[in-house]
Amino acid sequence: MDTASLTGKELAAAINADTKQRAAARTAHGPAPRLALVVATDDPASAWYVNSLRKAAERLGIACDRIDLGADATAEQIRAELGARSADPAVDAIMLQTPLPEGVALDDVSSSIAAAKDVDGVSPLSLGLLASGLDGFVPATSEAVVELLKHHRIPLRGRHVAVVGRSNIVGKPLAQLLLAEDATVTVCHSRTADLAAITSTAEIVVAAAGRAGLVTGKHVADGAVVIDVGTNEAADGGIVGDVEAESVRGKASALSPVPGGIGPVTTALLMRHVVDAAEKAAN
Ligand code: NAD
Repeated sequence: MDTASLTGKELAAAINADTKQRAAARTAHGPAPRLALVVATDDPASAWYVNSLRKAAERLGIACDRIDLGADATAEQIRAELGARSADPAVDAIMLQTPLPEGVALDDVSSSIAAAKDVDGVSPLSLGLLASGLDGFVPATSEAVVELLKHHRIPLRGRHVAVVGRSNIVGKPLAQLLLAEDATVTVCHSRTADLAAITSTAEIVVAAAGRAGLVTGKHVADGAVVIDVGTNEAADGGIVGDVEAESVRGKASALSPVPGGIGPVTTALLMRHVVDAAEKAAN
């Protein structure tokens, strides 16, 4: 079977073109939409990601401040920074980069991000709104999965989707978004007894575990669609996904590449959320 490549570049370009126009329209009457990126890590992969977000913002006409708290910042310092940016009317959007310093959990600090500025949907309020089917910001990576499937005209209604990963920022919100699209969702995780037995019954498999090569040909039914959310550091310094592409290609009907699949769509959606937040603040 031919396995189509579900690239995200075309979709990301379309989202970015719209975001750029909307950012320019705002800037014509006032300040540019402004994102505060709060960083409390010296992780090199994180630094690379933050830099790529800053460049993306710059290309789209979005102002982006990097606030570096250092890798030994305390939960109290992070909460204070998030609270100050939440109260600052010049800031439209806030993103807290992970990983956080050792001993600080996202849940310890995320509620200090005002929901109206929580463009990556990480706060308990944003996640609760999503679970209740109410309006709020949705985590960009989870949204990217649904948008990429729609872009490639892969129907979700009534289909069985297996999500591998149950984190608060990817797996769980993705399950909620898929339910809202009328899919039947199974969420698998590190304690799932027989992963392949479950994923091989699904029509769509989403790998979001952060384990290189976890999902192989034996995890996937003939003709299934596979979305690879994973970004793991490869031995050569590049990035690889959670899917072992060699054994899945030829079996799946479609597979999203890493890099070039979910990644560019995630960044594009995050930037769209910044402009959404700026527009809402002005109304
Ligand atoms: P996480 O470590 O918080 O969560 C991983 C999840 O995978 C957990 O729920 C765990 O139970 C599950 N898991 C781990 N090992 C497993 C196994 N052997 N079998 C089944 N389930 C297993 O990670 P996260 O923050 O949710 O991120 C997941 C992946 O997505 C990472 O590779 C991350 O880099 C990537 N990511 C990509 C983007 C993007 O824009 N492309 C954005 C965010 C995260």
